[in-house]
Amino acid sequence: MPTRKKVTILGSGSAGLTAAIYAARSNLEPLVIQGLQAGGQLTITTDVENFPGFPDGIQGPELMEEMHKQAERFGTQFIYDNAESVDLSKRPFSVRTSGEEILTDTLLICTGASAKLLGLESENKLMGHGVSACATCDGFFFRDKVVFVVGGGDTALEEATFLTRFATSVTVIHRRDSFRASAIMVDRAKRNPKIHWLLDSALEDINDVSKGEVISILVRNLKTKKVEELPADGVFIAIGHKPNTELFKGSELELTESGYIVTHGVKTNIKGVFAAGDVQDEVYKQAITAAGSGCMAALEAQWLLESEEADQEKKKAETLVQQPA
Ligand code: NAP
Repeated sequence: MPTRKKVTILGSGSAGLTAAIYAARSNLEPLVIQGLQAGGQLTITTDVENFPGFPDGIQGPELMEEMHKQAERFGTQFIYDNAESVDLSKRPFSVRTSGEEILTDTLLICTGASAKLLGLESENKLMGHGVSACATCDGFFFRDKVVFVVGGGDTALEEATFLTRFATSVTVIHRRDSFRASAIMVDRAKRNPKIHWLLDSALEDINDVSKGEVISILVRNLKTKKVEELPADGVFIAIGHKPNTELFKGSELELTESGYIVTHGVKTNIKGVFAAGDVQDEVYKQAITAAGSGCMAALEAQWLLESEEADQEKKKAETLVQQPA
């Protein structure tokens, strides 16, 4: 028998857990399908200094643990699994995990976004063997090593700065000579004596797949076209993220060209389906904006359910009046 819910939330990052706190406090007994990377992107972050309420900062995993506890306290149920398929063609919507089917009146999609990769064969083969997309997770393994970070956004410069806690040398490889990252991040990284720069440059290849470890990299200067081989122990790819919307491709849900969910506020093109957090946000992508939109999605779901219940009550009352005594 499928599980029957009023509110089901896909994802357990700051959007999903905030939605769960609000829905649970409205007695909607939400179900959160956590995903296999429970807690979302903040679980792979260290210091969070811009989430209001923590003047001394808080560790990302700790913040997510606290949000989880808060959602649980008000009666949220959790499933530690991925949603494998959805049917959004009719209500109640159906969500299947590996173990069960959930039928739900409203669906809150908070599946976030994942790290983008360059697409090199060596990058794929050496992932977890010297190549990483998460400095916070893997930086520790690069104590006294020589590492490279690819990208010119806030993530790349934040990761480069973080990696200087461990590595002897961190070189940022960026395809332009100006940065997408905020000025404060660029200044901080530029002041760090362990950080070096390869600008107007692209990572072409990583050696040595046959040895199963990173030994050197090939970097092309995009202006001179010259390719240089440099000794390396680790490579961190930090070139942005892609929304986790694979599950909805080919469904009735409207997506942008880059795969983000199209929303008006947090409403999608399907009545009863709401989206919050990075999965629908190409611009702000912050934990606090994700949390804010998670709150909005829960409120919208609550208001929709309330208005539908009120309509049903009204119809019932009208039918009773029309029945002959
Ligand atoms: P991003 O801002 O999209 O930057 C991606 C970087 O990777 C860009 O410099 C881009 O180069 C480069 N890039 C993309 N595809 C590439 C490719 N195929 N080959 C080589 N380089 C490539 O992504 P992000 O840095 O992950 O940041 C995402 C959002 O999160 C931003 O809004 C950012 O402000 C925010 N963020 C904030 C903080 C913080 O405040 N503490 C920390 C991390 C992230 P181009 O510049 O040439 O396009």
